[in-house]
Amino acid sequence: MRTCWLNGTFLPEDQAQVSIFDRGLLFGDGVYEVAAVFQGRLLDADRHLVRLARSQREIGIPAPYSATQWLDVMQTLATQNSIDEGLVYLQVTRGPAERDFAFPAQVTPTAFAYARPKRLRDDPNAAGVRVHVVPDLRWARCDIKSTAMLAQVLAKQAAKAAGAFEAMMHEDGLVTEGGSSNVWMVRDGTIYTRPLSHDILAGITRDVTIEVARDLGIPLHERAFTVEQVCRADECFMTSATSFVLPITRVDERVIGSGHPGPIAQRVRDGYLARAARLTQG
Ligand code: PMP
Repeated sequence: MRTCWLNGTFLPEDQAQVSIFDRGLLFGDGVYEVAAVFQGRLLDADRHLVRLARSQREIGIPAPYSATQWLDVMQTLATQNSIDEGLVYLQVTRGPAERDFAFPAQVTPTAFAYARPKRLRDDPNAAGVRVHVVPDLRWARCDIKSTAMLAQVLAKQAAKAAGAFEAMMHEDGLVTEGGSSNVWMVRDGTIYTRPLSHDILAGITRDVTIEVARDLGIPLHERAFTVEQVCRADECFMTSATSFVLPITRVDERVIGSGHPGPIAQRVRDGYLARAARLTQG
């Protein structure tokens, strides 16, 4: 039985309960974060907590716990559940109140977190994944890491039905991001990724990947690109906190580059892993 954490208490998962009136359940009125656990330690959790605080601020949910408190909860969950490689998920909703769209006058946020194992270093998907192209059906504030994710649920279900690992979303032909990842392409030795705006999530792994590429001396531009440009790129890859850097070798029926992980995606993944190992060593 996993140990989870709910509103200040560690408890077995089957004893964790929230109200049917919780606004997370009624409206998707909440925000969340997912951080990796590597070598038994949290990876870049401080950066995830900065983004959590921003998401809460943007939608007016007060911060019931400090970053220090969260770090302690997250590390305790990883340790108590014996997670060597995996993730910690945490969520804050506006809390339970009689159903009404506008913010309730009196409401206490609901906060919970749990941990689970996942292979990160030896992720079998590092051999290359396929993505499925779908229109981006989301709202105008994709920079907020909201739990309201029906568009991504549909996008990722369509990807799964098409036999793909991830959805690649576009708006009028311009790639926005993956269903739960940021997307990158490589052309003539230069890496490209879409610039930050309200149209995409500011991925923590995206930030770190930019730093890793810079350290490796690989040229990088934050510039939007089309689905067609991705299909004709030399390489393509995706990033997220719990997949690190994964080469994309097919976009629907189109083969990218050689059809195998490209040398730059490989170098960036190796650089990312080396940094993760360095930051989490005992
Ligand atoms: N974009 C979207 C839409 C996502 O859901 C995620 C993962 N939560 C990402 C990008 C990647 O963000 P991160 O690197 O912080 O996991």
